Amino acid sequence: GEPLLRIEGLQTHFFTPEGVVKAVDGVSLSVPTGRTVCVVGESGCGKSITARSVLRLVDRPGKIVGGSIQWSSSGASPVDLASLDPDGPEIRRVRGGEIGMVFQEPMASLSPMYTVGAHLSEALRLHRKMSKEQARETSIDLLRRVGIPQPERRLDSYPFQLSGGMCQRVMIAVAISCDPALLIADEPTTALDVTTQARIIDLLKDLQAQNDMAMLFITHDLGVVAEIADQVTVMYLGKVAEHGTAEQIFEDPQHPYTRALLRSIPAVRGGGTRSRLAAIRGMVPHPLHRPAGCPFRTRCDHAIPGICDTVTPEATRFEGDHVAYCHLHTEAGAATRSASGPAV
Ligand code: SF4
Ligand code: MG
Repeated sequence: GEPLLRIEGLQTHFFTPEGVVKAVDGVSLSVPTGRTVCVVGESGCGKSITARSVLRLVDRPGKIVGGSIQWSSSGASPVDLASLDPDGPEIRRVRGGEIGMVFQEPMASLSPMYTVGAHLSEALRLHRKMSKEQARETSIDLLRRVGIPQPERRLDSYPFQLSGGMCQRVMIAVAISCDPALLIADEPTTALDVTTQARIIDLLKDLQAQNDMAMLFITHDLGVVAEIADQVTVMYLGKVAEHGTAEQIFEDPQHPYTRALLRSIPAVRGGGTRSRLAAIRGMVPHPLHRPAGCPFRTRCDHAIPGICDTVTPEATRFEGDHVAYCHLHTEAGAATRSASGPAV
């Protein structure tokens, strides 16, 4: 059926004095009901801006200049979030109501002036029109569900009185307070220590399973992806490089960038030990100086002269929804290679 969220050809650009930064440049991806889609890539690839575009939280000088973001909640006809007024009532109903959100820095997302209870009540009274008494009861229940001990007492705590992990649990409680169909989580564990990271990931997996909640999970960490993803979208320099099921991406990657990313992390499956990690050579180009053709070509060991440097690769479809954007698989790439002699 229709996916819960369908992003098509999204373009979010930043109009800076130095020039136009195409932070998100034609990204398409879908999130089915109740499933977890991970968006993975190095910093600056546009994964966070993609997430923030869905919620219409992109600030000036950023602007959505193309594409659509179809949101189909609970049987209602789809709404194009990209076309809504970013300050209007429709997006505010979706944001924090139908779509919950958790960001990297829990301390920065919580207001230092308000207690845990005040954060939760605000969400519940705004989106679920609860009375003060109902909101209090529900807040206690939510804190219990996210694993906060002595929830009655914690209602009166201020964020600075909690550890980073506890703050993130509070953020998650706020995010799920309205029973969202989708949770957008942008590096929710990156600021936390390793043990706390693992606990938060487990919590998110549990909550997702219990509530049949879909997740759009943004991370640079393929270890986390292996833990939670049903589907994976790999991004590079504002574009999708590859998309597939977690199994397709980990077992049968088709894009040189995906393969390089996988080589650059410790073995995440199969228990192998790799003492040395391969770094991806070179650096991500500055977004104001995007290479023509394939964005990855300045770092790719397989670049085909005469095409990768001039033509942006189209999608090649493999099994199911597995797609890669690379001339190793396009007809144009094959034609160029045969015209210029044997492949390297
Ligand atoms: Fe490498 Fe060319 Fe594929 Fe880009 S399109 S990843 S440069 S082979
Ligand atoms: Mg980010």
